[in-house]
Amino acid sequence: MKKVPLYIDGEFIQSQSDKWIDVTNPATQEVIAQVPCATQDEMKQAVESAQKAFLTWKEVAVSERARVMMRYQALLKEHHDEIAEILASETGKTFEDAKGDVWRGIEVVEHAANIPSLLMGETVENVARGIDTYSFTQPLGVCAGITPFNFPAMIPLWMFPLAIACGNTFILKPSEQDPLTPTRLVELFEQAGAPKGVLQVIHGAKDQVDFILDEPAVKAISFVGSVAVGQYIYRRGTENMKRVQAFAGAKNHCVIMPDANKSQVISNLVGASVGAAGQRCMAISVAVFVGAAKEWIPEIAAELAKVKPGGWDNKDAAYGPLISPQAKQRVENFITQGVKEGAELLVDGRNCEVEGFPNGNWVGPTMFSKVTTDMEIYKNEIFGPVLCATEVDSLDEALAMVNANPYGNGTSIFTASGAAARKYQHNVEVGQVGINIPIPVPLPFFSFTGWKGSFFGDLHAYGKQGVRFYSETKTITARWFESDIADVTGPNMTINLR
Ligand code: NAD
Repeated sequence: MKKVPLYIDGEFIQSQSDKWIDVTNPATQEVIAQVPCATQDEMKQAVESAQKAFLTWKEVAVSERARVMMRYQALLKEHHDEIAEILASETGKTFEDAKGDVWRGIEVVEHAANIPSLLMGETVENVARGIDTYSFTQPLGVCAGITPFNFPAMIPLWMFPLAIACGNTFILKPSEQDPLTPTRLVELFEQAGAPKGVLQVIHGAKDQVDFILDEPAVKAISFVGSVAVGQYIYRRGTENMKRVQAFAGAKNHCVIMPDANKSQVISNLVGASVGAAGQRCMAISVAVFVGAAKEWIPEIAAELAKVKPGGWDNKDAAYGPLISPQAKQRVENFITQGVKEGAELLVDGRNCEVEGFPNGNWVGPTMFSKVTTDMEIYKNEIFGPVLCATEVDSLDEALAMVNANPYGNGTSIFTASGAAARKYQHNVEVGQVGINIPIPVPLPFFSFTGWKGSFFGDLHAYGKQGVRFYSETKTITARWFESDIADVTGPNMTINLR
C-alpha cells in the first residue's frame, strides 16, 4: 500500500504515526494510498525547520526567488498531464477538468514569478525638507495553508508559491482526501531548486489543523474549505493573534434576464451547475429566472438530464463521482429533503448508475424548480450536481434575493442589456460577478474576492492582496546630512553594484 510521505526539512519521510487515513478512488472505493496524521514531534520538526530556513531564505535575492518560480512553472507545464492523471485518479474529476485544476494553479505560479515588481514599495521625496519616506515589503516568517479536497492542485498553488516568493517559509496541510496531487506538486517544487526547509508538508485532519492554529511560530494562515471549519479557523487563529484569511462555502446565483441569449444560458448553466459534480465553490447552484425567462426552464431541465457522469478517462463523461460515499449520501439526502419541502423535482439524480463502476459515488444531474428561499435546499450549500430554479418578476427582486443570501462568493447575470448588467454589477453584494460568464474566477493578477459568509478576513488570495497578506510593510523616514559626504575614492570600472 502506498504510504503518503510527510515533507520535513527537505526530506520526504514516512510518518511514525499510528493513525492513518485511507485515500480512495471515488469511482471504485479502491484504497489507493494511506495518509498519516502527523505526530506532534513531526509537526514540531516541520516548524523548527521552517523557522531556520526563514533566516536564510528571506535574505535570498528577490530575483533568485523569482527564478525558482520560473523553473517551477516550467516543470509544472512539462508534467501537466501526469499531475492531472494523479489528480483525476484520486478525485474522480474528468481528465480535462483535472488539467484545468492544474492549469489555474500554474497561472498563480506565473504570477509569483513576477515577485520583484509585486514587492515594490512606495517613495515620496522631501516629505519635509531633506527628508525622504519610502516603504519596503518584508516577509512575515512561517506561514501555513490548509486546503480542501476539491482543487488539490489549484488551491495549494494559490498559497505556497506566492508566500514563498515573498520570502516566507510555508507549512502546507493538504486535504486528507486527496493528498497525492499536492505531494507531486511538492516534489516538483524541490526539483525547481527550492532550498531545504522553505516548504514543509504535514498531513492529517483536525488535530494537525489545531496544531497549526496554536503554534506561536506560525504568523499567518490561509484556509480554504467549508463554512463551519472556516469560521472555526478564523476565530481560533485570530484569537491566537495570527493573520488569517479563510475562504469558505457558497451559494452562487445566476440571474437570467428574458433578453439573454437563450442558447448561451442553457449551455453555460448546465456546465456551471453540474460540472465537477457541482463540487466547486464557484458552481452555480441557484438560477433566478426573471419574468418570461422562466419559460426556458423545461428546456434547461431537458439539457441537464442528458448529461452523463463517468470515469475520469472516459472522454464522453461530463463529470466524475462525488468525493466520498458520505458526500453522495449528503447530496441525496438534500434531494429527498427538497421533494419533502415542496420543490418540483424536474431531474432526479438519485440512484445514478455508471456502467463498469457499480461502487462509485455517482449522483446524476439534478434540477428543482419552484424553489423558495425558506427551503433547506436553498439555504445550504449542497456541493453536488443540483440546480435550484427560482422565479422572480424583476431585476430588483432578483437583486434583493441575492443580497439577502448570507453567502457572497460568486454570481452571474445573463442579459443583452448593458444597463441591466451595470445595475446588477453595481448593486449586488457578492465579491465576484460574471456578466454572460457563469464562473467568474479571476486570473491571478486580480484577487479571489469572495464576500460575506464566503470569506473571513481582510486580504484575499493571490493578486496584490495575496502579496499584502503574506507580508508586512516597513516605512522608513530618512534624513542624510550633506556635511557627512565623504570624498569618492576611485571609479568602479565594472557593471556590478558595490
Ligand atoms: P472541509 O472544511 O471539510 O476541509 C477543508 C480542510 O479543513 C481540510 O484540510 C480538512 O482536513 C480540514 N478540516 C476539516 N474539518 C476540520 C475541523 N473540524 N477542524 C479543523 N480542520 C478541519 O472542506 P472540504 O469538504 O475539503 O471542501 C469543500 C468546501 O470548500 C466547500 O464548502 C467549498 O465551497 C469550499 N471551498 C471554498 C472555496 C473558496 O474559495 N471560497 C474554494 C474551494 C472550496
